[in-house]
Amino acid sequence: MYLKRELSPSLTRYKGLHFASRYRQKSAHRYKTIVGVGGNVGDVKRRFEHLFHCLKKDKRVELIETSNILKNPPFGYVDQGDFLNCVIVLRVSMQPMVFLDYLMRLEKKFARKRSFANAPRTLDLDIIFFENRVIRTPRLFLPHPHWFERESVVIPLSEVSV
Ligand code: AMP
Repeated sequence: MYLKRELSPSLTRYKGLHFASRYRQKSAHRYKTIVGVGGNVGDVKRRFEHLFHCLKKDKRVELIETSNILKNPPFGYVDQGDFLNCVIVLRVSMQPMVFLDYLMRLEKKFARKRSFANAPRTLDLDIIFFENRVIRTPRLFLPHPHWFERESVVIPLSEVSV
């Protein structure tokens, strides 16, 4: 069950039991990271719920906080359905590259197919921030290079206590 609120003609916010929610702020894991989550194929809210449960029971990560879910129009390749996005705050002990591999395995588990840039997707997981690390390699760019340009990140980010 989600409470729906239109923020503008193109933006809709969905509030549910697990989005937004706040959990422990303390954890044995050392690093705080914020992950951007998105998707626009199939039952995306259900997939977000599934992801939530996967993260909640995984000892390698500690779920700290989630934002609401934001429905917003696609950018880049615009001939596709609207996206649903949220951010999830986690604590981890993995280093950033290892955490990126972890997220890519999760994307695979949720059957993401890589086709072309900005294509429709079942689940997209991006590291937005990892502590205050700055990394500039072809494989990993931190903070995420486009976070401040995207409503899909900025609005959910404004709902969590970072
Ligand atoms: P995308 O198709 O937008 O999910 O881009 C995925 C690719 O972006 C991956 O192959 C990553 O190696 C690369 N990448 C660079 N920086 C980041 C980041 N901060 N978070 C996630 N993926 C990243």
